[in-house]
Amino acid sequence: MSLRIIAFGAHPDDCELKAAGVAAKWTAAGHKVKFVATTNGDVGHFAMGGGPLALRRTAEAQHTANILGIEAQVLDIHDGELLPTLENRRTIARLIREWQADIVLCHRTCDYHPDHRYTGVLVEDAAVLVAAAFFVTDVPPCPRNPAIFYYSDTFKKPYPFDPAIIVAIDDVIEQKKACIEAMPSQFADKDSWQGRYLPGVPDDDEGRKNFIRDWLIDRDADVANRYRELLVQRYGDAGRNIKYAEAFELCQYGRQPSAAELAELFPR
Ligand SMILES: [Zn+2]
Repeated sequence: MSLRIIAFGAHPDDCELKAAGVAAKWTAAGHKVKFVATTNGDVGHFAMGGGPLALRRTAEAQHTANILGIEAQVLDIHDGELLPTLENRRTIARLIREWQADIVLCHRTCDYHPDHRYTGVLVEDAAVLVAAAFFVTDVPPCPRNPAIFYYSDTFKKPYPFDPAIIVAIDDVIEQKKACIEAMPSQFADKDSWQGRYLPGVPDDDEGRKNFIRDWLIDRDADVANRYRELLVQRYGDAGRNIKYAEAFELCQYGRQPSAAELAELFPR
């Protein structure tokens, strides 16, 4: 059965950082994936902003989508200004319904960034409405509620990230690195966020690009190490040697798949 997955990230880089690996594996297995940035990323840079930055980041999101063989969309909402409004609830519900999603990914709602938090809230708010016949009647409802999952994070309050499933991504790590390199406005420019604030970042362009990419990829190694037991449960002894992973927590709204079904929904 071909699955349809839609991932929501607040900015044109969030889906890529949290789910490029699993997306590459889903597409390789014949499933259909779409990444949606709920804002256009037009303030996350120190030397450029507004329309030109939004256009640049939309092009970067399309570039990463081409690398992964998925679809991408960037909503024209200002960075830093996303709110859980009725209009946005309808937009998110429409996107999930149009995609006829089996699986939806989003941020947890305890994240540090308001756009991340409200992306999570908007998906949670849409969870039941995507199957409601008389909500956004211009788009047919999903035939059944999708299962909703959160990206991993390191926030501790009100509770730490609690993964339901983990995916080894060593075999697709080069694709994930290529996605990061395809987003220089985020991860290579001298005046990008990490380019300015990451401690120890080199001055030269090539060195900076490699340094930030490796720092980001190390976070997937942290996920593998933090949830090593889950890797061993899923992959047996091979799980001890897996270097990079992405993990996902099941949202209590939406469909609740069994453990056996979870292992089918997420690629090995
Ligand atoms: Zn973000």
